Amino acid sequence: MKNHFNKDEPVIIIGAGLSGLRAATLLHAQGIKCIVLEARDRVGGRVLSVGVEGEPELGKFDLGPTWYWPRYEFAMDQLVKKLNLQTFEQFTHGKMLVERSSTEPPIQHDLPAGAMEYSLRFVGGVQVLIDALVTTLPTETIHLNTKVTAIHQDINGKVKVQTDGKNFYASSVIVALPPRIIEQNISFLPRLHSELQSNLINKPTWMGGQAKIVAVYDTPFWRDQGLSGFVSSRVGPLQEIHDASPSSGSGALFGFFGLPAKVRLDTGKEQLFELVMKQLTHLFGPSAKRVKGVLYKDWSSDKHTAVKKDSEPLLDFPNYGPIIDKTESLQNIFYAGTEMASQQGGHLEGALQSAERVVDEVIKRYNQ
Ligand SMILES: Cc1cc2nc3c(=O)[nH]c(=O)nc-3n(C[C@H](O)[C@H](O)[C@H](O)COP(=O)(O)OP(=O)(O)OC[C@H]3O[C@@H](n4cnc5c(N)ncnc54)[C@H](O)[C@@H]3O)c2cc1C
Repeated sequence: MKNHFNKDEPVIIIGAGLSGLRAATLLHAQGIKCIVLEARDRVGGRVLSVGVEGEPELGKFDLGPTWYWPRYEFAMDQLVKKLNLQTFEQFTHGKMLVERSSTEPPIQHDLPAGAMEYSLRFVGGVQVLIDALVTTLPTETIHLNTKVTAIHQDINGKVKVQTDGKNFYASSVIVALPPRIIEQNISFLPRLHSELQSNLINKPTWMGGQAKIVAVYDTPFWRDQGLSGFVSSRVGPLQEIHDASPSSGSGALFGFFGLPAKVRLDTGKEQLFELVMKQLTHLFGPSAKRVKGVLYKDWSSDKHTAVKKDSEPLLDFPNYGPIIDKTESLQNIFYAGTEMASQQGGHLEGALQSAERVVDEVIKRYNQ
């Protein structure tokens, strides 16, 4: 086995989420040709910032990630500064609400200073980070609607990437996908080592079983009542609610569900929305009924993010970190993505850190 690294062929990156795109920009900056193959008709993966249909003036709202924590997420902090992106602090002023019962009014609590970790949001939603990375790449770099189905490395180290359309040839491949998606949807030749396979299965997609709902209003009216918008509920269907208003203009509240994926699915979107509006009215009063739009995304039923097993609740924090491939014959295949990060795995920060580590490994191989 030669594991030859053919520099005439590009590095192929699978997945145009934050990790794959960051890897592409780093390789491009080094003058190394790369191609990004993305199954969806859009870039960003779990990053998804959308507006209310027909009302663009209300702003963009995040149905995927919202925050980063610049005091300890240094890759994010540096990249945001380098790309000159505008951010603002998560709104946390005012009282939090605790909802214990649907028949009694919620209890108001003063949060002690520093109780909420200092976090930042993006003006225009997290999508601006993705868009800023994309603009640094040549236009022909990203191939949308291109789902990878197989990766073959031949005896000389040459790699063939099969998609549901055509085949691509590569010097090496960076797989920047949720690990369970790799295991379930991509076949390898030679076959992956069984230890590597179970390692992939044991890294659940972060937030893969979750759903997010955003209720959009003309103004953040709860702030006038001295409320922060932060809620902890034992009643549901939303377990945790936060202020999701843009930096100026309209208002919004977003929530994570306490209901498991299967219950959400069985309940159906229409009834879920009704239950959420009832809960928001109980918490914030009749003004909560004057909603301009409701945005919803259930990640558990997104086939490019989660597998069936991701709908099971997580009992422990997953064992994220790099995977070691013992398949000698697949040495030109590298693995990025947030679940492959040993620090801040699951977060946007982990997506960046894993991309940076893997690009270093590819460049080392390139220079050998
Ligand atoms: C609801 C929710 C809330 C979150 N909140 C936060 C937060 O506030 N802060 C934070 O730091 N993180 C948060 N996260 C996590 C954050 O979104 C992820 O860490 C990050 O976006 C992962 O990026 P990634 O590139 O590793 O993976 P992904 O974004 O999943 O990218 C993988 C890409 O691969 C593509 N793909 C899949 N299969 C194939 C295939 N066969 N061929 C080609 N392409 C394929 C997918 O379409 C996708 O574009 C949240 C996530 C969710 C879902």
